[in-house]
Amino acid sequence: MPELPEVEALAHHLREHAVGRAVTRIDVVSLSVLKTVTPAYTELRGREITGVGRHGKHLDVECGDLHLIVHLARAGWLRWSDDLPAKPPAPGRKNPLALRTHLSADDAAADSGAAPRHVGFDLTEAGTKKGLAVWIVTDPAEVPSIAALGPDALDLDRDRLETLLTGETRRIKTVLTDQKTVAGIGNAYSDEILHTARLSPYATPARLTSEELDALFDALHGVLTAAVERSVGQDAARLKGEKRSGLRVHGRTGLPCPVCGDTVREVSFADKAFQYCATCQTGGKPLADRRLSRLVK
Ligand SMILES: [Zn+2]
Repeated sequence: MPELPEVEALAHHLREHAVGRAVTRIDVVSLSVLKTVTPAYTELRGREITGVGRHGKHLDVECGDLHLIVHLARAGWLRWSDDLPAKPPAPGRKNPLALRTHLSADDAAADSGAAPRHVGFDLTEAGTKKGLAVWIVTDPAEVPSIAALGPDALDLDRDRLETLLTGETRRIKTVLTDQKTVAGIGNAYSDEILHTARLSPYATPARLTSEELDALFDALHGVLTAAVERSVGQDAARLKGEKRSGLRVHGRTGLPCPVCGDTVREVSFADKAFQYCATCQTGGKPLADRRLSRLVK
């Protein structure tokens, strides 16, 4: 799933390539991604893209007083194209394309007398579990999942983080990925942050010492800013690979921890898993994983 660094990189890419262009056409291939009816998506036609923002993991394409808000969910992606097909795409259940936005081409290209190019971006979603969501609103706060967001992870300072965690008895892994508490962090970067901070995913935030809070804050800020720096400026197509190459424990079950060499372990649930290093994070003690112990027996 794209998290804060990837969404920030996509926003950056659109700021460089889409701002200043007008929306010329929107092809809605999968109607179910559209979560709002009014204003209609056709109202975006002819409007210029004036800015691109980010709210947690939501992307905000500003077209004057209308916002096209996108949440990529687990398997959604945004793909920029300098050469979109002019022909409307055919809907089909197997088509990963959900929505295509055509934008006005460069004036220079039009002046040269060449055939007009179709530039713009596709929103795609792989797999059968559909979660990609698009809203068209006059105020981003009309999107319920944006209205409920906690402070952005990159805006937190040490004191604000401490305040958020005071009295918090849920597991730290749960808290970091709860968008209502902190916005922007998901399963992958929370694994990385906790590994860097040398904290157990099951640690209780309210019981963290001052040193542990320092370590958590430094890791949160360090991991996210490093990931933003790695991702921004990358081709959108290469972003996913870039994310993977920067990870130390997430998605690396069975591989050596790059810090201590211990084997990266995993705790799995029905539909997801997280990774950690026992030597670095839990005093060498593996966390209980019912599925894994069943398999081992
Ligand atoms: Zn380790």
